[in-house]
Amino acid sequence: MHHNVAPEIKELCAGIRQFIEREVLPMEDEHRELIEAGEVNQEFFDLCADVMRRSVKAGYFALYMPEDVGGGALGEYEMCLVREEVARQMSHLCMLMLGDLPFGPNKMLYHLASEGQREKYLMPLMRGEVTSAIALTEPDAGSDLAAIRTSAKRVEGGYVINGMKHFISNAPYADFLHVLAKSDGGYSMFLADKGTYRVGAVQHSMGGDDIQAEVYFDDSFVPEENLIGEEGKAFHYAMEFLGNERLTMAPFSIGMAELANRLAKQYAKDRIAFGKPIIENQAIQWMIADNETELYAGRAMTYDAAQRADAGENVFKEISMAKLYCTEMVGRVVDRAVQIFGGAGYMKGNTVERLYRLCRVMRIAGGSSEIQRMIIARS
Ligand SMILES: Cc1cc2nc3c(=O)[nH]c(=O)nc-3n(C[C@H](O)[C@H](O)[C@H](O)COP(=O)(O)OP(=O)(O)OC[C@H]3O[C@@H](n4cnc5c(N)ncnc54)[C@H](O)[C@@H]3O)c2cc1C
Repeated sequence: MHHNVAPEIKELCAGIRQFIEREVLPMEDEHRELIEAGEVNQEFFDLCADVMRRSVKAGYFALYMPEDVGGGALGEYEMCLVREEVARQMSHLCMLMLGDLPFGPNKMLYHLASEGQREKYLMPLMRGEVTSAIALTEPDAGSDLAAIRTSAKRVEGGYVINGMKHFISNAPYADFLHVLAKSDGGYSMFLADKGTYRVGAVQHSMGGDDIQAEVYFDDSFVPEENLIGEEGKAFHYAMEFLGNERLTMAPFSIGMAELANRLAKQYAKDRIAFGKPIIENQAIQWMIADNETELYAGRAMTYDAAQRADAGENVFKEISMAKLYCTEMVGRVVDRAVQIFGGAGYMKGNTVERLYRLCRVMRIAGGSSEIQRMIIARS
């Protein structure tokens, strides 16, 4: 494993940092009231979509996708550095900036889309003209997706879908969904256009990023050309084409942890208690030492898994390890940061307070910590 970063990737990361400073932060300042309300609504989403379109133009969108569809063809390791950079900025409006799941294009669609699906769904996603959502989870089927009840019944010319999904990120704003349903051939993935399903209640979350909602399929017709790949292969496709996607949460965790640690360190230098900066106390120094040690471990693990994935090695288990470790690590680091800030760390408006709420979901979504441990144990 090495941590040499090619000069062009360093430049790319610097460019992304400048893009956020130049294009996104002024937008945040202009819409401060909306952002501080702490809710995602249409106006907020439109600002994020504006950032996405600017990102497409600047060449920072869908960098993980192959070049022949307009992607940046970056490898997993390079994408780790890019994602870390964006996470470190913690900008409210960067939600769609990179195109990562569930919003933008994905490799399953790239590898399996028919010519028609490519034109209608993949390419508009690549151009940042539309966004998508991934509808897998149901009230009785989360970690255990084999328990889904949503059905797809074959009819002339297509399928009729019935069922209900919940916790679906971007459901209120997506132009179409990737839907997991049980058909006669087994678990299958379909593309469902807006209008063929009904978005139910928005599910307000601890993070305040209220983009999760219920989705209802009531005799929803999807044409047969909207089946992705073949019937019955959805789980196989997810493993084959989206297995590496679990790695995305590791660099986001690292970026958030690094930001929390940096802010806490600065605060500890500035904050005076008992006549001296609190950083002069060993108790505080040890918290920072633990943060930095865990950040180092998380990075080493993530970069190793990413580089081995880039080399074509099967690192399904190692990706689970990196996802597990980094998403748990960011929780500990941010918790210590809040402690170092004292009461100020608990107050709204403080970045570490926001990080504390935002990072919690990373141990649950994208395969919970327990599911990652299960994968590791079975591998
Ligand atoms: C903010 C947010 C965004 C989300 N976005 C999406 C989305 O866009 N699309 C989508 O389809 N879903 C989405 N989800 C759903 C997410 O994928 C599920 O919440 C997750 O898979 C866990 O499922 P569950 O909530 O039903 O919990 P359950 O599966 O019921 O699990 C409950 C607890 O039991 C544990 N557990 C379950 N099985 C085992 C086992 N065998 N051994 C040990 N422990 C076990 C779990 O780890 C967890 O701690 C989102 C969730 C959140 C919170």
